[in-house]
Amino acid sequence: MTRIKNFIVAGLLVFGVDAAVGQNDRMEAYTPARKLNKANLASTLTVIGQKEYAFTRIPLNEIKPTGALLDRLRVDLNGFVGHLDALVPDLIVKDDIYGKDRLTKKHRSKNLGNSPEGAEWEVQYLWWNSETQSNWWDGYIRNAFFAGDKTHIEKIKKYVAKILSTQDEDGYLGIYDEDLRYKFDTANGENGELWSKATLYRGLIAYYEFTGDTNVFEAVRRGVDNVMENYRINASHPFGVKKSSAGLCHGLVFTDILDWLYQQTGKSTYLDYALFLYKDYSSHELSEPDIQLYNILYLKDDLKGHGVHTYEHIRPLLLACYASDSPELKAALQIYLDKIKEVTTVTGGAVGDEWIFGRKADMTNTGYEYCSLHELLDSYTEIVKKTGDVRYADDIENTFFNAAAGARHPKKSAIAYCKTDNSYQMTGGLNFSFAPNHKQTRYKYSPAHQDVAVCCVPNAGRITPYYIQNMWLRDKDGFVALLFGGCELNTIFDNKKISIKETTDYPATSKITFDISVATPVSFALKIRKPSWMKEFIINSAYKETENYIILEKKWAGDTSIVIEWLPEIKKHLVNDEVYFTCNGQVLSLPIAAAEIPQRTYIEGFQDFEYIPQNFTLFEYAGEMPVLENGRFFANLYNSVWQKVEKKELKPIGQTVLRQTTFKIK
Ligand SMILES: [Zn+2]
Repeated sequence: MTRIKNFIVAGLLVFGVDAAVGQNDRMEAYTPARKLNKANLASTLTVIGQKEYAFTRIPLNEIKPTGALLDRLRVDLNGFVGHLDALVPDLIVKDDIYGKDRLTKKHRSKNLGNSPEGAEWEVQYLWWNSETQSNWWDGYIRNAFFAGDKTHIEKIKKYVAKILSTQDEDGYLGIYDEDLRYKFDTANGENGELWSKATLYRGLIAYYEFTGDTNVFEAVRRGVDNVMENYRINASHPFGVKKSSAGLCHGLVFTDILDWLYQQTGKSTYLDYALFLYKDYSSHELSEPDIQLYNILYLKDDLKGHGVHTYEHIRPLLLACYASDSPELKAALQIYLDKIKEVTTVTGGAVGDEWIFGRKADMTNTGYEYCSLHELLDSYTEIVKKTGDVRYADDIENTFFNAAAGARHPKKSAIAYCKTDNSYQMTGGLNFSFAPNHKQTRYKYSPAHQDVAVCCVPNAGRITPYYIQNMWLRDKDGFVALLFGGCELNTIFDNKKISIKETTDYPATSKITFDISVATPVSFALKIRKPSWMKEFIINSAYKETENYIILEKKWAGDTSIVIEWLPEIKKHLVNDEVYFTCNGQVLSLPIAAAEIPQRTYIEGFQDFEYIPQNFTLFEYAGEMPVLENGRFFANLYNSVWQKVEKKELKPIGQTVLRQTTFKIK
């Protein structure tokens, strides 16, 4: 996600000469009275006050996945999630970066298993292992506890105890020794101070929520207090370094931790601090400027940044909105979200391979990185929780069940670092470079992708538990079934115990059973989100219907079983003058027969694979809609080579390796 060697290309993004000229021109057009710029815009912000979130999240220990989601967790625990430390031990096991191997001024370089080039970049490589380790642990912790896997949980307990033992007396819990921490004023100020903490603390937060271990809560609270003491609010510049890069810019999502602490404690100081971080981030020349307030409101440029930064940075801006209720920030958020739609493919693929570079979404020619899929999904879940706009749940499901499922290998424990909706080869390079391209290695399947960076695999381990933890939300009236899938919710409402079992093989079919059990009669509303693609449904109960929900509101007693089914409908959509098909939110693709080329073996059972197409033919849409026959999708498509219509089977994109997803109109 952060590991790019091309320094020159990256440098052009940092507001080079041309961008600076454009900036001044537009600035005068928008602000005749006073010259606003990045440095002073933040001080002009209208701050009204803190704004309440629409929904309350469900604690992790109140949800248990079942069915296909539980199966997925077990597969991944037996696969790359449960074994990443064995696949890349140098990065995870052998580098005690939060403990005895904390970084000091003496460090010059680090072995990461790939080939860093150029001294300018070495400084950013130094913090890499903290991201690899902590993002992996975060996903691993959530997988193991959601799956209730005792063996993995034992290993996690030891890890958490060891991490807590590295915390200093003053609360410092991070990767820098005393000579470096909070002091990055050398020629290259790039650092991972906040980023290494954001990633670590997310995992610790998960552990606390599953176990209730208050020592872990205290460790996080003290770690955050230590940051707030050293980077004083409105009196320091955490992002004011001479030269920034990926690590510093990732550090803005330290707001994830502040947001969680605010929700746990109700203390507004955490929200104030999040607003301060966003304002400080907006005030400096940084290598990831997409999210900066001035750029959003006044430059109105296309998104150019490193994709994963651009997508994760939605959350700090969103949080700053709720910390201030500022009309400027609200306007900026809407502009930014509109831009995000332009760079998202029909499957929810958040493009950028790795940078977005001002391009729009393209189903064939612009790849999306697995890290970006996770970060966009996570950002959309926060939008729903704060704004109450459940239409973003359609986007979450789209990314999870289409782009992200379609970037996992359907049978092996491996993922694609980069993938496209139309995927014609996976031999390292992008589509149409049929000769193996050994410079680009992201377009293949691997359980680690160590030859590029071990960023996407840890995030592939996070995306499933993050989906699970957002399936249910609550509001003052009751509960919202937001994202669908098999699970059990065991919680309290009005001081009474409630159990809701959701049984479904969604999205394979759209029939969902909710079994509600209460020991004592209790009144609450069960709101079932209406997917935007849904046309008709059947339900075995009286209900109210609103624009976004099917609502069952009553005094519940004993056991009640609610069965709802979204009736299947195949739809045709147009994108870039081509056609693609969906059925109840699932994107359908034509699989392309492929030859498998085994590559590097990490350890037994964990290997890289490349794929080349056999008898490659692009089909065209000949005017006939696909049909559903005994649960399978068939389409009459035009074979442009043999010039005839053929009956072909389409599959949900998550079941494919090479595939054609969009079809030219004949
Ligand atoms: Zn990545």
